[in-house]
Amino acid sequence: MKAAVFHKVGDIRYEHVDDPKIEDSRDAIIRITSTAICGSDLHIYNGFLPQLRPEVLGHEFMGIVEDVGSGVTNLKKGDRVVVPFTISCGKCYFCEKNLQMHCENSNKEYGPDGGLLSEKGGALFGYSDLYGGYNGGQAEAVRVPYADYGLRHVPEQLKDEEVLFLSDIFPTGWSSIEWGELKGGETVAIFGSGPVGLMAQKSAWIQGAGRVIAIDTVNYRLERAKRVNNVETLNPNEVDIVEAIRSMTEGRGADLCVDAVGMEADRSILDRAKAVINLEKGTISVLETCFRAVRRGGVVTVVGVYGTPFDNFPIGRVFDKGITMRMGQSFVHKNIDHLLDLVVQGKVVLDDIVSHVLPLTETSRAYDIFKKKEDDCTKVILRP
Ligand code: NAD
Ligand code: ZN
Ligand code: ZN
Repeated sequence: MKAAVFHKVGDIRYEHVDDPKIEDSRDAIIRITSTAICGSDLHIYNGFLPQLRPEVLGHEFMGIVEDVGSGVTNLKKGDRVVVPFTISCGKCYFCEKNLQMHCENSNKEYGPDGGLLSEKGGALFGYSDLYGGYNGGQAEAVRVPYADYGLRHVPEQLKDEEVLFLSDIFPTGWSSIEWGELKGGETVAIFGSGPVGLMAQKSAWIQGAGRVIAIDTVNYRLERAKRVNNVETLNPNEVDIVEAIRSMTEGRGADLCVDAVGMEADRSILDRAKAVINLEKGTISVLETCFRAVRRGGVVTVVGVYGTPFDNFPIGRVFDKGITMRMGQSFVHKNIDHLLDLVVQGKVVLDDIVSHVLPLTETSRAYDIFKKKEDDCTKVILRP
């Protein structure tokens, strides 16, 4: 079959690879109908997460069941399904606690330690050898382990682009707000108005926010946020973000700040030099701004990805303000049924974040325009 294969930093090629095969009785082979590029894929593409051998990337995908192993009785050839991005057995200590991202069985690099180059949690599709080394969905087909657990049938009437984002970014945006435990009427400031930030904005309204503020350094992304999610917007290149958020909240700060940017935030030369000296990957500047922009006793949630340790973490400010923090990979399995219901009932629209639908043959160009934010690129769907 054909797939988009990551070879090295900045180098993705559409080429021939071996067809995926059933290797275990719980496997299924899915013929991909739609897949997407995630901001997380950029961490590999940009070299922030190392991957030393060729791998098919892609953890946001859906398609048609082509074949199933003998142990998979709840799926059959021809079923249309969307697939959560974590590879989870459904039977271990963590899967049973609804912590499927920490599945003990899917990843040979698994361990309790954590960190950029250390032991990891459960495996992810197409997300480097550290996360299990499985091929991903930016391909004509993919092998899905534990296929009897976690896959969701997609209602006939919904188009691919209406449900594809249930695989990752809608549950991720949802988790970033859910962790803030809104009671109703809160001011939510969401840093990053990329695909994940846009999904967090939608989730904030549904979960009861009174005011949603989107922050991004790129104006076309803010314009889309305003247009599709009816949010207020701020650009840190144009205003002092902390001052602006305080002045919108009677001097106090936002009730909940969400970091949907992560370690690859825009950086100054000074920031870059400091990172080299300290062996840090990227920057925690957005997280630091969240701690300043949140009110005392407020919540900061982090879905943007971080890898290495960082010195000068402002623990004193976090302590003094009594900030609650939550972070990590999102809860896809726990939330996907409820979120699918919201889509089916028309309570949320997901496909309004899509800027590009391109053939899989153009994956290399698609990564390039997504990374460089060219052609007002917000979210790319790829079709084999
Ligand atoms: P993206 O790269 O398109 O979005 C990041 C946005 O942040 C961009 O619009 C960029 O302009 C903006 N930005 C950069 N510097 C900024 C700054 N200083 N202040 C405000 N905005 C700034 O990617 P995405 O797909 O939206 O993903 C966002 C993050 O979420 C990534 O780190 C990704 O890896 C992570 N992610 C995490 C999970 C999870 O389960 N936790 C799931 C999916 C994605
Ligand atoms: Zn992702
Ligand atoms: Zn498990």
